[in-house]
Amino acid sequence: MNIKHHPDDATLLAYAAGSLGEAASLVVASHLAWCPGCRTTVRCAERLGGTLIDGMQAEPVSAGVLDRCLSALDDAPAAQTPGTHTVAGDPALPTPLARRLGCPISQVRWKRVAPGIQLHDLHLSPGARGRLSLMRVATGRGVPEHGHSGSEITLVLSGSYTDRFGRFQPGDIADLDLDVEHDLRVDSAQPCICLVAAESPIRFKGIIARLMQPFTGI
Ligand SMILES: [Zn+2]
Repeated sequence: MNIKHHPDDATLLAYAAGSLGEAASLVVASHLAWCPGCRTTVRCAERLGGTLIDGMQAEPVSAGVLDRCLSALDDAPAAQTPGTHTVAGDPALPTPLARRLGCPISQVRWKRVAPGIQLHDLHLSPGARGRLSLMRVATGRGVPEHGHSGSEITLVLSGSYTDRFGRFQPGDIADLDLDVEHDLRVDSAQPCICLVAAESPIRFKGIIARLMQPFTGI
């Protein structure tokens, strides 16, 4: 795997600190499963965080705080488990995503949301912000020029696409802030399947795409 695009350092630090949302954490954990370099960065950040905590003065805490912490750990998304889950005939999936999905890609129930674009929403915990989806875009198709109302982080699982930031292939991450606009097109012979965590719906620039947005659910 030849990964060229990685999460921002700020995203990796937020992941290490446990302050990233559930949807984005699952995308980052899935990238880490394939990216030794980012795993090293996260391990360093975790060690640094541990050193800072060790240097803090102890403070009294309320009763039950240990139980709440252990419960939160149980609910946390799968951490940086390296490795790939493979099913014959399916694109390989990073282990954290395979665990969350619970079935091979070939058994996913896709919903057609626009010509050449299909979505499948993944379950998030009650109260979790944003949306976590698998997106499959057909060869030669794209998502019209759009911006974001919040941050969006995307991991390519199979196939590839190109936008003004370059070409994105399996393992690559597009870590986009809310002020970024782009227009992507799938350039692989097979459909491009991505895992997308979005804080809020995307903002299309074109009038047709904007009018269709309530019906497409993107
Ligand atoms: Zn990386």
